[in-house]
Amino acid sequence: MTYLRARHYYEYRYDKFTIETARRGVVHYDKFLTEFESKLPKGEKLDKPGNAFVVNVFYMQTVGNELIHRYEKREQTISEWMACDESLDERIANARLSEEPYCRHCGKQGLRIIDKSLMHRGENYEIDDLKEVLFMLKCPQCEKNSAFWEDGTSWKVKPTLCPKCNSDVTHKTSKTKKAITITYTCTSCKHSFKDRMDLSAKEEAPDPHFDEDRINYCLVDKEFRDRLFRMKHDFEGMAQLGKEMQEKRDNKHIYDAVKEIKKPKIAELIPLLSEPLEKDGYIEFHLDKPEMGREAYVGFSCLDSKSDRKDYDSRKTLKKLVDSALEDTNWRLMSDGTSYRLGYLNGRVRAYESEEDLKKLAMRSKNLKPKQTGGDATPKNNNYTIKGENGDTIIL
Ligand SMILES: [Zn+2]
Ligand SMILES: [Zn+2]
Repeated sequence: MTYLRARHYYEYRYDKFTIETARRGVVHYDKFLTEFESKLPKGEKLDKPGNAFVVNVFYMQTVGNELIHRYEKREQTISEWMACDESLDERIANARLSEEPYCRHCGKQGLRIIDKSLMHRGENYEIDDLKEVLFMLKCPQCEKNSAFWEDGTSWKVKPTLCPKCNSDVTHKTSKTKKAITITYTCTSCKHSFKDRMDLSAKEEAPDPHFDEDRINYCLVDKEFRDRLFRMKHDFEGMAQLGKEMQEKRDNKHIYDAVKEIKKPKIAELIPLLSEPLEKDGYIEFHLDKPEMGREAYVGFSCLDSKSDRKDYDSRKTLKKLVDSALEDTNWRLMSDGTSYRLGYLNGRVRAYESEEDLKKLAMRSKNLKPKQTGGDATPKNNNYTIKGENGDTIIL
């Protein structure tokens, strides 16, 4: 027996599952459609743009997205299944008995391998546990079979015992076209019991709609496939846009504060900083050449003209003055601070330009008003919501 089969076997298996999933989704979708239609205002049709939109969103949620997902995963999944079965075949083909076995019945050697198969070893195993290769060998002397695992351990059959008194039993086998029946009789209490093995292969019930459903649900039909992909793409775009608008509404107070932030040009920094500094005795304010990398920095220097102000106080006062002068702007004094020597001070300021950075500044700004909960904030009650198949709420 080999595991690897022709490709169409796997394709059928994959598509069958897709079709079953789709059919379940369609039941859910149809139920929704009936309910939705019954709730429409008098005279309104399902194909009215707004309604058609709701219906399409729901179709994608219950059926469409899953079809696309399975369509996209199909080739990969089938290849993986085939690779897995192929590796099982290789495993069996490469298996060798670790030692020359003895016939379990007559003790002779020279047995012939008649079968190799993968089996679970031991009695208590999970279906996913690793299987091992079991060798079936025929003795040319006594013509009886013995079974061994790859490592040479012989396969042990659990003896059937009488369920009433635990004694040995004898058995008789009878075979019909439909089943094999083994009748056991206890050697001690004569209790008799049967074991029946059904031979009639359970044929799958024919599925008259399989082929047409496969064309549809497995997205063989190009026109339908393109339509689904387009809808998915459009809805994702709208969802993203909706999310962004929602964020703007929810954080309106932050965006308002961002608008309040002044963005002085480098030249404008000179009066902005030099005026308050001069008032407090820092003279000869100068800007260095700006450093323009991913972020923009400008160094500055000045002289402390107050003779009684010492190093620490001078730096601390300067920091306070610069922080306060820049407070409403997108410039900040760098955390590496200011240096002081002989009354000569220098430091660096940095510009915050990206929207994310400006939002962070705004959140720390004193212009930030409390978050709005009524009025302009998100309307909570006028969304149309529906329940998805998994119980998740879909907001339209
Ligand atoms: Zn033998
Ligand atoms: Zn018994």
